Amino acid sequence: MNLILLGPPGAGKGTQAQRLVERFRIVQISTGDMLRAAVKAGTALGTQAKAIMEAGELVPDELMVALIAERIEAPDCANGFILDGFPRTVAQAAALDEMLAERGLVLDRVVAIEVDEEALIERIVGRFSCADCGAGYHERFNLPATEGVCDQCGSTNFTRRADDNRETMIARLAAYREQTAPIIPHYEAGGRFARVDGGGDIDAITADVVAALER
Ligand code: ADP
Ligand code: ADP
Ligand code: ZN
Repeated sequence: MNLILLGPPGAGKGTQAQRLVERFRIVQISTGDMLRAAVKAGTALGTQAKAIMEAGELVPDELMVALIAERIEAPDCANGFILDGFPRTVAQAAALDEMLAERGLVLDRVVAIEVDEEALIERIVGRFSCADCGAGYHERFNLPATEGVCDQCGSTNFTRRADDNRETMIARLAAYREQTAPIIPHYEAGGRFARVDGGGDIDAITADVVAALER
């Protein structure tokens, strides 16, 4: 099963993707995580992306398309993948169509998670994650069961993203509205598209996403 999770920053794409990975035995492909790893490793891509990400703008399409084209070739994608954070522009969506067609792959579903902007900002400023396994948390809405200990791996090291502040988030929301939201009609027209209300609690949203996948 090959999916796209669409939605603005903070919609819950990463949170839901982690659950779908376990349930369907498919891999999560988060372009944001891939870029942050590149920045940390100091690769050529990371060097180009760092300032752009800190400004809340989008990394150039050609870099992102090349990154995804290579990633979906990896053997762990054979059972399916969840794209989280890609495509983010009309050009990326068109390039994805082409690369899937070339490889004889289909998109089984495109799920758009919808949340209003005030709630998104609150989610982003309170977001943190496990520094060892990447599990995502929120200081008010999604704390580990034992304070200070990761549910998934038991680590006590947590981290916050440099771009998870109100100012950068405003720029990221503008980028979403102007450059990413216009790809929705592209997928609506193709069918296999579902909208899910991302405003409820995490388990209820997972149930809605799974229902949309099985419909
Ligand atoms: P995205 O990957 O779309 O940017 P995340 O999955 O990282 O979003 O979620 C953003 C923040 O909101 C995280 O701190 C996460 O724990 C929290 N969160 C996710 N889903 C919900 C929800 N349904 N209600 C409240 N908080 C949520
Ligand atoms: P969020 O989970 O909050 O939506 P991401 O982790 O997906 O954010 O992305 C973080 C940053 O990485 C973006 O603000 C952007 O600068 C860059 N980025 C990630 N994916 C893409 C993409 N497909 N195209 C362009 N830039 C991207
Ligand atoms: Zn962990």
